[in-house]
Amino acid sequence: MAYDSNNIFAKILRGEIPCDKIYEDEHVLAFNDIRPQAKAHALVIPKGPYVCSQDFAEKASDAEIGAFTRAVAKVAKQLGIAESGYRVISNSGPNSHQEVPHYHVHILGGQPMGKMVHLPE
Ligand code: 5GP
Repeated sequence: MAYDSNNIFAKILRGEIPCDKIYEDEHVLAFNDIRPQAKAHALVIPKGPYVCSQDFAEKASDAEIGAFTRAVAKVAKQLGIAESGYRVISNSGPNSHQEVPHYHVHILGGQPMGKMVHLPE
């Protein structure tokens, strides 16, 4: 799984493109999605060069994985949706329709989220 350092999130991490930052620590950056699909829609990304969920889970250190999981909860709290609930989605690989090849999870909430999956006809 080759990482392409020209992807948009790599550019955000390098500071070449701005983002609406929510949270940052040594291993993780979180920011608002540019095309929100719910009242609250954040993206959480590791700072390391991982392509997708599979790549991250197989190659990242325990410290990176731990920081990432904790960051999701911190971001949900910061967005004020920890109590009301939210959906965490990660698209991983071609069938998932992943658009940006840098691992990320979407945190979606601030409203009822409806059915989990809508498959194409
Ligand atoms: P994916 O389909 O890869 O799971 O999701 C990629 C997400 O990144 C989409 O929800 C899209 O709106 C978001 N996105 C793409 N480019 C940018 C950008 O330049 N800035 C921000 N904040 N979000 C972006």
